Amino acid sequence: MTGKRKDTLSNVKKVLIKIGSAVLTGEDGLDLAIIDQLVDEMAGLSQKGYQIVIVTSGAIASGRHRMGIQGPVKSMPQKQALAAIGQGRLMRVYSNAFGRHQLFTAQILLTMSDLTDRKRYLNIRNTLSTLMEWGVIAIINENDTVAVDEIKFGDNDNLAAMIANIVEADLVVNLTATEGLYDKNPTTSKKAKLIKLVEEITEDIEACATEDTSSVGTGGMRSKILAGKKITACGIPYIIAPGKKKSVLTAVFTGKEIGTLFLPVGKPMHSRKHWIAFTLKPKGKIILDDGAKKALIEQGKSLLPSGVLNVDGNFDVGDPVTCVDAKGTALATGLVNYSAPEIRRIMGLKSSKIEQVLGYKDYDEVIHRDNLAITGQLVKQKP
Ligand code: GLU
Repeated sequence: MTGKRKDTLSNVKKVLIKIGSAVLTGEDGLDLAIIDQLVDEMAGLSQKGYQIVIVTSGAIASGRHRMGIQGPVKSMPQKQALAAIGQGRLMRVYSNAFGRHQLFTAQILLTMSDLTDRKRYLNIRNTLSTLMEWGVIAIINENDTVAVDEIKFGDNDNLAAMIANIVEADLVVNLTATEGLYDKNPTTSKKAKLIKLVEEITEDIEACATEDTSSVGTGGMRSKILAGKKITACGIPYIIAPGKKKSVLTAVFTGKEIGTLFLPVGKPMHSRKHWIAFTLKPKGKIILDDGAKKALIEQGKSLLPSGVLNVDGNFDVGDPVTCVDAKGTALATGLVNYSAPEIRRIMGLKSSKIEQVLGYKDYDEVIHRDNLAITGQLVKQKP
């Protein structure tokens, strides 16, 4: 075991394993042999004391095979119908496979709106932690039959990142159809080299990943890297590994240099701030002056009206909003104490003037630091 892998695995207990459609499906729909192999390994881990949560794709691919549909499915109702057909089968296969090891499974289907609502988010957290305490394997997928664009996670890599934060996972393993992250697209370049360790997801690392997907998955490597950013931001290490390789999880958990390991960022983001930054969808933008930028990022201060240069969009009190600098670079996301029209009236002013201008003053800050998640320093600019 090499140093970094060893350190990464030394205190791991809660593990989120994400399995992509391209791993789970073959020519004949769900690949039962692969699922059995992976479940045998996961059951082994569970018996060793690891708490396992699974985010799985494969419902649509399985439904498509059931219905004998070849090629991509374009219409949303068809995709949703196929997910309804395939999800039941997917769960039955997992449940039978874990049943051979006397382990129970639980199905959880989620849409984005389940997680953007703080109350429902906390309910899901409690359910998941109860399942983990009971040693039941939670098997999570997007609720594809009801999810439309506005309430979709987009892909299961993103869903896995949200769940990693909810369960406070110690490690996320993303099982995919490739060996890991390459420096170039390996399907088009013979010179592509596997990157074994990523210390930080910089713009150069992002540039290595393309949006090309397998014929059955939705994310591609790009979505795996974007998910990696969110996962490592909560202080969780992340490994992209080849899901079809025999004994892949044993290799990962014994510290073999398989796939790509992404190290967590130094100072992890608190779970609620992570929720603000990565689960909520911003409803507008606030443009900050240089003084406010410095105060937020370097001194951990709240955003005051005096630091606001402009406002973009039409948001309400309590809405999530992105704070950007004058060049448009995103710095933070926060929940606002004033609506967009109110901020337009008080921007550039001292907090002591708020009451005079608006006729009332509920808060001194436009965004209080407790409701502000700094994301700016996560993206390292190219030198
Ligand atoms: N939720 C989809 C399914 O189970 C897959 C989404 C994805 O591949 O990211 O079929």
